[in-house]
Amino acid sequence: MKGMIKGLGVTLKTLGAKKVTHAYPDVPLEMPDRFRGIQYVIEDKCIVCNQCARICPTECITLTGKPNPDPEKKGKVLDTFDINFELCILCDLCTEVCPTEAIVMTNNFELAAYSRDDLFKDLQWLGSNTENIREDNNNIGAPQKGGAK
Ligand code: SF4
Ligand code: SF4
Repeated sequence: MKGMIKGLGVTLKTLGAKKVTHAYPDVPLEMPDRFRGIQYVIEDKCIVCNQCARICPTECITLTGKPNPDPEKKGKVLDTFDINFELCILCDLCTEVCPTEAIVMTNNFELAAYSRDDLFKDLQWLGSNTENIREDNNNIGAPQKGGAK
């Protein structure tokens, strides 16, 4: 009897408490801006420097370039850019080293698929991943200009 009253007490106490559960996936989860989610690749900004692929600890980025079609301009433009999300650990290193912010993180995290092949994302897919782009991409946690306050 004592145990039952104790249990009822806990039930009554939590009845009016604020809900901690979410109606996901019906209501999308809002992630904080520091979240490391699936990347967005901006083709025109990429200078094909290969730094993102070189720093990637899981070697899941492959990219190729081609000569700039504009004869007035030097350097290469991006031809292909793929990320294998079977391997990507969303560590953020690729976006940190990118000198032009051609690759940035988003707050998107849903990648569930029935086939492993679907986890292989190409430039077209990564370039159209334009929702929930992280606002502060490279300066997260960095001191303000003029030193830490
Ligand atoms: S987030 Fe990390 S693991 Fe994923 S592609 Fe970038 S560097 Fe590689
Ligand atoms: S680091 Fe940036 S600019 Fe360099 S290849 Fe990767 S995405 Fe392109």
